[in-house]
Amino acid sequence: MADVLEIRPQDSQAEEPQQLTDGFHLVIDALKINDIDTIFGLVGIPITDLARLAQAEGMRFIGFRHEQHAGNAAAIAGYMTKKPGICLTVSAPGFLNGLTALANATTNCFPMILISGSSEREIVDLQQGDYEEMDQLNAAKPYAKAAYRILHAEDIGIGVARAIRAAVSGRPGGVYLDLPAKLLSQTMDALKAQQSLVRVIDAAPAQIPAPDSVKRALDVIKGAKRPLILLGKGAAYAQADADIRALVEKSGIPYLPMSMAKGLLPDTHVQSASAARSFVLAEADVVVLIGARLNWLLSHGKGKTWGGPKQFVQIDISPTEIDSNVAIAAPVIGDIGSCVSALLGGIDASFPKPSAEWINAIAERKNKNLAKMAATLEKNPSPMNFHSALRAIRDVLKTRPDINVVNEGANTLDYARSIIDMYEPRKRFDSGTWGIMGIGMGFAIGAAVTSGTQVVAIEGDSAFGFSGMELETICRYDLPVCTIIFNNNGVYRGTDVNPTGGKDVAPTVFVKGARYDKMIEAFGGIGYNVTTPEELTQALVESIKSGKPSLINAVIDEAAGTESGRLTNLNPQSGATKK
Ligand code: ADP
Repeated sequence: MADVLEIRPQDSQAEEPQQLTDGFHLVIDALKINDIDTIFGLVGIPITDLARLAQAEGMRFIGFRHEQHAGNAAAIAGYMTKKPGICLTVSAPGFLNGLTALANATTNCFPMILISGSSEREIVDLQQGDYEEMDQLNAAKPYAKAAYRILHAEDIGIGVARAIRAAVSGRPGGVYLDLPAKLLSQTMDALKAQQSLVRVIDAAPAQIPAPDSVKRALDVIKGAKRPLILLGKGAAYAQADADIRALVEKSGIPYLPMSMAKGLLPDTHVQSASAARSFVLAEADVVVLIGARLNWLLSHGKGKTWGGPKQFVQIDISPTEIDSNVAIAAPVIGDIGSCVSALLGGIDASFPKPSAEWINAIAERKNKNLAKMAATLEKNPSPMNFHSALRAIRDVLKTRPDINVVNEGANTLDYARSIIDMYEPRKRFDSGTWGIMGIGMGFAIGAAVTSGTQVVAIEGDSAFGFSGMELETICRYDLPVCTIIFNNNGVYRGTDVNPTGGKDVAPTVFVKGARYDKMIEAFGGIGYNVTTPEELTQALVESIKSGKPSLINAVIDEAAGTESGRLTNLNPQSGATKK
């Protein structure tokens, strides 16, 4: 129990002083009793003392320069650990900044809790114009898995327990917890307060799949001629790594990892069909989805990408995910660990292996594509382009499979995703379900703080801009984060021109020749400016060896890069500019 205040009740002659505690202490105690040891946030009215107290009570408080990035750090910490990451913000604008990250966490199924201070209910509800007045609870609801407000100190234990359970049970997601300023200074009897705390038992209980659903799935897989396993980030989140690997290897079925599932099995695994992605998606007749949704990232399970008719087996914890885009022949509802282990139980020596014809066809396509890619990567154009720069990074990271990789951008994301191999689970953190920019430094800090190991963030120059000020945070906490900026002077590329010939540059163009490396030097970090793959290799090796905050400004051809990366089809163009 935290520090307590001692008072002698005025209306009592009792000898023993009554011990009091307050809302500030109770919030910290309620988190600590649930083994939550880190808060990501940004201080201000009314939560500054909450942050101070958290630190004084032995928790880690990581202070950011903008709440969105604190929220992203909390979300990625939740994904890495299966414990909700905590983000603490002030009211109204601070809350709204954090809400972006909360919505992104919910969309990605990452468990996090956004805790925000808020103004007084009486004034907010009568709209009398309080300092930072805002009905935060209702604003949060549409974007969160759950949202709660605590009004009384005696409810803090229950409120925090509800938030934790909501964040991690079933399909994980973001939870909002509203703490009005008055609550924090409310006092109550310390003993009663201690008794009101709740240690959450079995926060994410196993959900065992129904045996008939497992049998149905095994029957569908048995009947397949060209089976494929598709691993999503839900599979990585589940931490059922050994069983997932056993399922792939025992069944002999080729697999495709979604981007954040890369490394669940090493990308160099012989059964990986990544280099033949389009081929297997189009040709497979049975697809086993494990923790992956048939959303836009998978063309909604239909259309040209998916070729001929196919049957889907889908393992997911959320029953309503099933049939969301196309009919699912065999849903298996439960947690991935339990579902995969149940399927494994049905795969014995007599289980039919995929035909040699299917395996050979994939191998042939894979080898052809890998040879083509190898030739592209071998080129050494001047100026450096995405491929030659990524070749340099790939070769360094190959020697350090334990390194966490953060990746965002348009072209930078598309190319790095396929060129940089991953070898260990939950080491790749990227734009995720929304395909967004802005997660970079938040995820990098969250990953560095959570793992205590090296992070390399591979960033487009545009993507980096959304969270660049957090370089100061990285330097302040002396985190082993090396940020590499693919600098081609603009969004997508830097060569667009203003058609009017006016003074303003084109909407996609940035300052030419910007030196992002100087930004980190301003905070005491190490900056590198590189223009060749050899310089990039040297800088990256040196930076990783130092374990210090660093930034590599990698100058690439400003004409390199395509509009919207590989999402050109999603980008509506006006008839006037269509080429
Ligand atoms: P990706 O973007 O990699 O394809 P998605 O985020 O679309 O992955 O899908 C993740 C899926 O995994 C979600 O449908 C979610 O309900 C599911 N999921 C998350 N955690 C678990 C778990 N522990 N057990 C089962 N399913 C899970």
